[in-house]
This record gives sequence, structure tokens and C-alpha cells, in this order.
Amino acid sequence: MTRPAHQRPAPASPEVLEALVQELVGLDLVPAGHELERLSHDYFDYSPVLQPQLQGKRAQLVVRAQTVEEVRRVAAACARHELALTARGAGTGNYGQCVPLDGGVVLDLSGLNRLRAVDPASGIVTAEAGCLLAALDRQLEPHGRALRLAPSTYRTATLGGFIAGGSGGIGSIRWGFLRDPGHLLGLEVVTVEREPRLLQLDTSASRALNHAYGTNGLITALTLATTEAVPWQQLVLEFEHWDTALGAAQALPASALLLNALCLLERPLARQLPNPVGCQAATGHRLLLLAAPDALPVLEAWVPQLGGRIVWSAPQAGGKGLPLRELTWNHTTLHVRAQDPSWTYLQLLLPQPEGPAIAALRRRWGDDLFWHLEAVRQQGAARLAALPLVRWRGNGPLAELMAQVKELGGVLFNPHVLTVEDGGLGVIDGDQVAAKAAHDPGGLLNPGKLRGWLRSTPG
Ligand SMILES: Cc1cc2nc3c(=O)[nH]c(=O)nc-3n(C[C@H](O)[C@H](O)[C@H](O)COP(=O)(O)OP(=O)(O)OC[C@H]3O[C@@H](n4cnc5c(N)ncnc54)[C@H](O)[C@@H]3O)c2cc1C
Repeated sequence: MTRPAHQRPAPASPEVLEALVQELVGLDLVPAGHELERLSHDYFDYSPVLQPQLQGKRAQLVVRAQTVEEVRRVAAACARHELALTARGAGTGNYGQCVPLDGGVVLDLSGLNRLRAVDPASGIVTAEAGCLLAALDRQLEPHGRALRLAPSTYRTATLGGFIAGGSGGIGSIRWGFLRDPGHLLGLEVVTVEREPRLLQLDTSASRALNHAYGTNGLITALTLATTEAVPWQQLVLEFEHWDTALGAAQALPASALLLNALCLLERPLARQLPNPVGCQAATGHRLLLLAAPDALPVLEAWVPQLGGRIVWSAPQAGGKGLPLRELTWNHTTLHVRAQDPSWTYLQLLLPQPEGPAIAALRRRWGDDLFWHLEAVRQQGAARLAALPLVRWRGNGPLAELMAQVKELGGVLFNPHVLTVEDGGLGVIDGDQVAAKAAHDPGGLLNPGKLRGWLRSTPG
């Protein structure tokens, strides 16, 4: 090795690039052009902070792998030439997770999309990393099973990308977050070495690769727990007053109702979003629910007592147009930005009780902050996460807003930073760094995204 592994690798010289292309002959290569640009980017433009940092960053070569053997060939070639190697699923991440900072190779794994096994007794599924979540769910349906958690990008995102880059979403009201013990049960991983190994990691060894942005192993297959399939019903509720809407968002998850999502949108925000087919435009604060069929009679009686009304309902399956799911989580941000790209967002867990903190932030930020809450379970307890829309006024006001959130007792998951640690709780996870040393000793995987690796001293 000619460079210390804790330093970021240099981009490939024209000669090295040429040699690499020769070595990878027979694979699906994208050497240049619009497609290379597209496959080098994700949805980092939601962040005006990341935008200038990532604009123009691109791979020098994209390889679209179809098999595990092809992944090994690419890993071996990058190890030989000491080139950066960045895994990509569908590229729907929001923080530039799959954007290569140092050129090199982007490895598109969406071609590895086979379902390998469903255990009929336990419902445990093993599938390749590039499986689209919605496609995988369709294959689980005949077994009466479904994925426990899905991002609102369920139709476009891959399983490997969700585990490596996502956190939770639809289902988090019941099942918490992806890193909670019990979801990810095993991984198949290719190491980045001159002779890449194919490892089968058990539940505890897999944990270090969960939400590590592909910095410590190339995931080729995943084993996950599933849940029973439920024919979810979509409901839109409206409330005249914010306090009653917030009260309902607190009361509904604390019941015996089987819910898969609960999203609260402040009136001005609800008014900006598209409506499901047959649902009138918003006049009040909106609560979007995914509920089991047996919850419907209870909701019909209970919602008026909570101060709201059901304005629309329809089964999720077979519905036409926009599913309710695509108005929740970061799809809310997507729809608002489609009308006015000067909006950005934050991600946080609100302190409890939520009302006073929201009121304090409203007093300071007024119409520069629109409230969007999602019901989640955090370490077993019902909480409200928030993805408020934030009008972009520059770095200074954003820093002030984040500081106020922390002062009020909120837990911030900053979506305007590049590293795994800074987007989480800010602390280095020694297990993630150790897994990188074991699976990527040359420090080639997604360089610059694991702060703990750059900080560690070799030897
Ligand atoms: C509109 C919108 C809504 C969203 N809603 C949610 C949400 O509800 N919940 C949520 O958690 N996220 C959400 N996201 C973020 C993102 O869609 C999800 O995290 C998604 O699951 C990422 O999957 P992907 O296949 O696009 O991964 P990519 O963006 O391609 O990759 C994500 C990360 O994983 C790494 N990676 C990908 N595949 C592999 C692999 N096989 N091996 C190793 N590393 C790999 C990449 O290097 C990258 O660091 C949203 C994004 C958008 C734009």
C-alpha cells in the first residue's frame, strides 16, 4: 500500500482508469456522460448546506453489477488500484450518502435483486441488496408477510440502501427504527481486498454495517424479520385547532388500535400538498393515518370526540394515484420543494410534552417553520418525531434554530452533514470503525463519510 489507509484515496489517473476498464471488461460499465452524472448523485439538493459541497462530485466510472461475483471483481480491482469505491442502491438518500467525494468507482447494486428465501415458519426473509422494497413486499404477500419498516420512497428504494442509509419511516409507529435490535438478522458482505472475501455475518456482527453508509462492507444480501401482512386503510382526518390535532396525534398511538403510520401536518403545509384521488383540498390541520380494518369503527366514533373529522378514507391496496404514504416522511419535503425550492427541513425527536417546545419554536420562527410530525416508537416508548419544513435564510439562522431545538430538549438528526456520526448523535461508534478495518483495510469504501475512521490512527 502506498498511502496510509486512514487518508482518503486519490482519484484515478487516466492510465489507471484505462487499466481498470480493461480489467472489468464484460461488466456493465458507464464511463462518462449524463448517466454517469445521474448515478453519482442522490437527493442532497434538499440541503442548501450540502449542495455547494457536493455539486460536481462524480464517479470516474460506474459499474452496474448483476451478480455477487461481479461485485467481487470490482472490489478486487479497486483494492489493487487503491481507488475509492462507493456503493449505490437507488440513490434516494438525502445527505449525499452515495455521492463519491474522491472520484473512483460507483458500484450500482440495483441489479442484485433476487429473493433468496422466505422461512414459512418465522417469516424471516433473505433477499439481495438491490431488491426494491415494494417489489420485495409483493413477493412476501403470498406468504402473508410484509416488511416491518419502509421509507416513503418504498416504490423506488433498495433494501441494501435502506439498511445502509435509511433510518425508519412507515411502520416506525409500531416497530421503531432500523437499528433497533430485532430487525436486521444477518448480512452477506463482500470485503474490499485484493482477494475479496464473501462473509456471512450473524445478527450481532451485522449491526456495525446498519446505517454506516456503505463505509464498512459491500452488502450483497440481507436477512430481516418481517411482520404479518395487513390490508392497511388510508384515512385523512382534519382538525380546526392545532392543539386538538396534536392531542389526537398523542392519543391515537397510545391506544390498542393497529396503526402503521400517523403523520400530522400543520394547516399551511397540508394546503400545499397534493391530495389523494377523491379527497378535497385541506381546510384544517391534517392527520394522515394508515390503520388496520378493525380500527375503522373505533376511529369513526372516536375521532369526533378528539375534535376532528374523517374527510377521506380508502384501502391502500389497489388505490389509484398518490398513496397516502407518499405524503409522509420526507415526501412532505419533496412536495413543498417542488413548488418552492427555497424550503429545506430538519429531523428531530421532540421533547415531551411536545406542545410547549413547538409553541416556543413557533414564537421565534413564525412562518419560516411549518410543522410536520410523525408518530414513532423510540426504545419502546411512543414519541413524536418532527421533520419541520424550514425556510432557508442562510447558515446562521439554521444554526440558531438547531441550537434552540437542543436547548428545548429536542434530539437533532442533522440532515445537513456528510458523515454517519454527524447525522446521528455525533458520537463515534467503535464497532463501525472496527468493521471497516476488518472489511475495508485500505479505507476505500465511501471515503470521507465515516468520521471515526479518518480520526483513528493507523496501527
Ligand atoms: C422523498 C424522500 C423520502 C424519503 N423518506 C425516507 C423515510 O421515510 N425513511 C428513511 O429512512 N429514509 C427516507 N428517505 C431517504 C432514502 O430514500 C432512504 O433511506 C432509502 O431507503 C435509501 O435507499 P436507496 O436504495 O436509494 O439507497 P442509496 O441512496 O443508493 O444509498 C444509501 C446509502 O447506502 C449505501 N449503500 C447502498 N447500497 C448498499 C449496499 N448494497 N452495500 C453497502 N452500502 C450500500 C450507499 O453508499 C449510501 O451511503 C427519503 C428520501 C427521499 C428523497
